[in-house]
Amino acid sequence: QVQDLKGTFTRSIRVYCRVRPFLGGQSKYLSTVEHIEEGTITIITPSKYGKGHRSFNFNKVFGPSATQAEVFSDTQPLIRSVLDGYNVCIFAYGQTGSGKTYTMSGPTDLIEQNQGVNYRALGDLFLLAEQRKNTVSYDVSVQMIEIYNEQVRDLLITDEIRNSSQTGLNVPDASLVRVTSTSDVIDLMNLGQKNRAVGATALNDRSSRSHSCLTVHVQGRDLTSGTILRGCMHLVDLAGSERVDKSEVTGDRLKEAQHINKSLSALGDVISSLAQKNSHVPYRNSKLTQLLQDSLGGQAKTLMFVHISPELDAVGETISTLKFAERVA
Ligand code: ADP
Ligand code: MG
Repeated sequence: QVQDLKGTFTRSIRVYCRVRPFLGGQSKYLSTVEHIEEGTITIITPSKYGKGHRSFNFNKVFGPSATQAEVFSDTQPLIRSVLDGYNVCIFAYGQTGSGKTYTMSGPTDLIEQNQGVNYRALGDLFLLAEQRKNTVSYDVSVQMIEIYNEQVRDLLITDEIRNSSQTGLNVPDASLVRVTSTSDVIDLMNLGQKNRAVGATALNDRSSRSHSCLTVHVQGRDLTSGTILRGCMHLVDLAGSERVDKSEVTGDRLKEAQHINKSLSALGDVISSLAQKNSHVPYRNSKLTQLLQDSLGGQAKTLMFVHISPELDAVGETISTLKFAERVA
């Protein structure tokens, strides 16, 4: 039986808020964020009579100057859990442009210092596996998929890889690729990114309107007892949460928006019913929650990073993001 790390990650659902800095020297502008203290963020809200305020509470709030390392620092116990045989989900939620991809992957001009959660999580995973190598032998493999309009697309398809796909998948039919180092994973993430871009036209940046999920499967064999344990970690960069004005979009855009809306609220419903320990958890309402069913609830651990933009004109989305997050926290 695997021992849990007592006290390090006692609640199975955690919600962290991250505020993006102003971009490109816009720092002279006023921010919607009035105050941040530990787990509390206070927002300036527009009101008919002037300015209002509203505070929201989370497990932690990271301000605009928080580094990637700081944001990742509390995540380490989760990585340990995966190696101990638990399932873990890490989500990035927020409107387009609020910093989801920055948190999960990093900026486009990536250097080690600004690598996001994905890289750091994989780095830690291999490091911990190495430290345990005299007692447990680990196999690590990854999948990368995209969910667009409730359809799942395998992002790791190449002819070379297609032949090596194995059984035991969480996501039926998606390529499962064995990896032995962080650099293997980086290569696959780059491949996935490239495949993702293929589906997008210049006009339609699909990446903001689809969910992308990097799943890491870990199988450990205890070298003395022969016991096998399996854990997995899903690293999910969600589609942009912004509400589109239904009077302004039609056709494909409207359909996309409705799918995103539906799947994000289904995710919110699942997490909040888990948080409230409801007996019925509505996993079946979206592709995303169906696929992640085994990793949401039960012994599984969930971490959600909610992202907000500091600009005043984003305040409507900021408040709706914070309300979503408050519901699941
Ligand atoms: P999203 O994935 O939510 O659409 P991005 O992660 O692409 O948003 O972020 C939008 C822009 O802001 C990008 O240019 C990104 O590099 C930058 N950015 C986001 N978060 C930060 C941060 N914490 N520090 C510096 N730049 C950031
Ligand atoms: Mg993004």
